[in-house]
Amino acid sequence: MTPDAIVVGSGPNGLAAAVVLARRGLAVTVLEAADTLGGGTRTSELTLPGLLHDHCAAVHPMALASPFLRSLDLERHGLEWRRPEIDLAHPLDDGPAAVLRRSLEATARSLGPDGAAWERLFGPLTDQYDSLAAELLRPPQRLPRHPLPLARFALHAALGATAVARRWRTPGARALFAGVAAHAMAPLTAPGSAAIGLMLTAAAHRHGWPVAHGGSGAVTRALAACLAELGGTVETGVRVRSLAELPPARVTLLDVAPRAAVALCGDRLPARTRRAYARWRHGPAAFKVDLAVEGGVPWRDESCRRAGTVHLGGTLEEVVDAERAVTRGRMPERPFVLVSQQYLADPVRSAGDVHPVWAYAHVPHGYDGDATEAVLDRIERFAPGLRERVVARASMSASRLEAYNANYVGGDILTGANTPRQLLLRPRAALDPYDTGIPGVFLCSAATPPGPGVHGMCGYHAARSALHHLGDPHGRAPGSRGGPYLI
Ligand SMILES: Cc1cc2nc3c(=O)[nH]c(=O)nc-3n(C[C@H](O)[C@H](O)[C@H](O)COP(=O)(O)OP(=O)(O)OC[C@H]3O[C@@H](n4cnc5c(N)ncnc54)[C@H](O)[C@@H]3O)c2cc1C
Repeated sequence: MTPDAIVVGSGPNGLAAAVVLARRGLAVTVLEAADTLGGGTRTSELTLPGLLHDHCAAVHPMALASPFLRSLDLERHGLEWRRPEIDLAHPLDDGPAAVLRRSLEATARSLGPDGAAWERLFGPLTDQYDSLAAELLRPPQRLPRHPLPLARFALHAALGATAVARRWRTPGARALFAGVAAHAMAPLTAPGSAAIGLMLTAAAHRHGWPVAHGGSGAVTRALAACLAELGGTVETGVRVRSLAELPPARVTLLDVAPRAAVALCGDRLPARTRRAYARWRHGPAAFKVDLAVEGGVPWRDESCRRAGTVHLGGTLEEVVDAERAVTRGRMPERPFVLVSQQYLADPVRSAGDVHPVWAYAHVPHGYDGDATEAVLDRIERFAPGLRERVVARASMSASRLEAYNANYVGGDILTGANTPRQLLLRPRAALDPYDTGIPGVFLCSAATPPGPGVHGMCGYHAARSALHHLGDPHGRAPGSRGGPYLI
């Protein structure tokens, strides 16, 4: 059967786009270069048999925040969320680790003299989180439906992360926020660099930072099952190199990075889009390390032993220095390292007393060195004796990340640098950011609004643009407010 729609790439955005189109009765085919579906949401035994490691995405506040994923009732297809007792711990050399919990009150209590200020900032953002997330997870070109929560957020989000962090006095509260803000992989003094930290912290207080039972691959399996139920088909092991290779279809959606879209679309791409996509900047890279650890990580701080995620960045100033270095292309002596211990909430990932530990360091774009020892050193600093417990390990450098998934150009796992311009005008300044300018061809990857993370909202909005192109009443015209939010 000739498909009505082709989706190139099966990351969460590709699959989300495919589901939206299939829901509207289109015959959809997804083509994926790798041998398995999922892009950044795959899980397998990377170190030892029986140990389940998330290849990329591990922790899913954005999936719970996503109006689209929530509307799919993916639990019907086996997706279950598991929450650790402590969502995030940020150990320091002097004093106890700062701790982020789902409970705003408990977090505030643990932050001592900064508790009241923490509650003042995050209380309103958390109370109105669902409305806020609905705004932040849509293109900025569209008229807001919840202008007040958005305005309150924007007031703080426009600042640098350091300016927000300095409203607290204790090193713990400052470092805790800096570590969350560092997920942006951008200089933390830059205007707008507070936005991602605010969003992820409020998400923690609203939904926690959950993991998927059995691994993030469960998100992919559930989306794929949803698509199959709607009659969509998938083909793996198909790397699409040119639009000309594709069978005719009424619409084509590309879950690829902008520069890859230039190569795929060739001469058909209008000059203005080509120039904008070619200018698209990629940011620092990740260096991923997966460990099999007998008895778990011997954290010095008790809170870290119970935390799903541990940020190893030291003080606010240390996090700022490390992030500045990687954005300037310099490997810091002590990189910012994120560790996840998903097995604490989801013990099926372990084999007996050997546990999978997921970590990555922020390193410069295209970094070709081996950062494995730097990651282990960083963990050892807060967990002496770690190395003696590591029974197997696997590393993925910046170039291997790109070979694994072409969207991670130079190891950039966010599919684009979080510069102020690219945060707002992604992937180019246009009324419809998903439109490539080729009739019927749309970009739907994390390079489009609302950006990276496992939420499927880039795919959702791109598919609505495609439906609009097809004259479907459930499509959404560029810049419009009209039509139902979810279909
Ligand atoms: C190490 C790491 C940790 C992360 N941690 C988190 C986290 O904890 N929480 C979170 O929310 N997010 C996290 N992310 C980010 C998240 O995984 C991505 O933002 C998300 O997967 C983007 O989805 P996507 O659909 O846009 O693209 P991707 O998931 O990157 O998928 C793109 C797919 O398209 C395929 N493709 C590309 N080009 C072609 C082609 N020419 N032909 C056919 N197929 C093609 C690729 O093989 C890939 O499968 C992490 C990412 C990494 C790498």
